[in-house]
Amino acid sequence: MAGKPDIEIIQLLDAHYVDNHARYDLFTSESELHDCRNPNACGLSITSYKIDNHNIHFYGNSGKEISSIPKIQSSYAVHKYHNNLYQSSESRNFDKVPVQVRDVLPYHFILKYKGIDFIVNYDNLTATEKEQTKKDIQNAYEIFKEKFCIDNTIKCISDKDSEYYKIYDGKLCVKDTTTCMDPEGFIQDNGKFCEPREVKVYIFNNKIDYSKYGTLLGFSKKGLDTSLGISLGKKILCYKYNDMDSTLAHELGHVFQGNFAAGKVKELDNDPNIPVLEDDGSKFDASEFIANVIGQEVGKKNHDSLIEDSSNRMNTNSGTENNFIIEILCCFIGLIALFFWWKTSSDDGSAPHHEDQQLSLLSNESYDKSYSDDII
Ligand SMILES: [Zn+2]
Repeated sequence: MAGKPDIEIIQLLDAHYVDNHARYDLFTSESELHDCRNPNACGLSITSYKIDNHNIHFYGNSGKEISSIPKIQSSYAVHKYHNNLYQSSESRNFDKVPVQVRDVLPYHFILKYKGIDFIVNYDNLTATEKEQTKKDIQNAYEIFKEKFCIDNTIKCISDKDSEYYKIYDGKLCVKDTTTCMDPEGFIQDNGKFCEPREVKVYIFNNKIDYSKYGTLLGFSKKGLDTSLGISLGKKILCYKYNDMDSTLAHELGHVFQGNFAAGKVKELDNDPNIPVLEDDGSKFDASEFIANVIGQEVGKKNHDSLIEDSSNRMNTNSGTENNFIIEILCCFIGLIALFFWWKTSSDDGSAPHHEDQQLSLLSNESYDKSYSDDII
């Protein structure tokens, strides 16, 4: 990412930018840290992939299939579950024109999950939406991990071991040029520049804010106008609307593939041999395949959990209704019993009243006496 990154919009619905600079090849690994569920999918063991009409297959060294994902071409298909988990909210009123994104999104929370810090910047998220955001991030992570593997290896570059870079004035600069990298993108540790394992998410209140103020983060107005979400490196922008769960997960799919995947999984992101495909009039390339799967799977997970919640609620409600009916029946039976008891006592001519009950605690003798005295 030397100097101004060479970025371009490669498809309309989701403007995913590509930084073609092969910066990762220059990093050396400080420690191997892979989070895998499918042990075969860890690290570099995925050495090739093949795309057929319906699926993308990932293979290991021996040619054995390690993982496969459905080939979802259209980004529209990502939003097939309309879960309505987020609602757009009003724009803030500004006293003066915002000059930095913090003016528009003044709050943040950090979700630390499996070695990655997800810094979520926002203005207006309800408590429920905040929890939902955390859930969506975790689900996207787990779904990606299930198919492939998350590579959380810390990668650093030092001034000594690179023939391309030098450290100048606290910045990492390309040798023999005046181009330097933004130090904000790195953690500096003992003279080494290391990649922070953090993802920054920016959630705007509505589409208008997203288009208007996303430019403060370096994105083009055109790219923002024509997209539902956008990502660059480890930065994600999206806005609150009913399908945001799928959009956020889709962008996370890009971020995981580009920054936390190893070997051929990452390469698929920028494979120049995959022809640009057309679907529903929108253009996209291979980078969309994995993102589409993550977006759709998270949408499905939310959809399933909403159905489960509502069926649990129905069971609880019907349980409450049953309890109510049982209570009514008990009352009714109680009333009938009381009636018969009263009827029987009336027939004997000795219906007790309140005082009688008190007196009945006394001995029979004194009862009789007191009772007589009272009456007379
Ligand atoms: Zn995308």
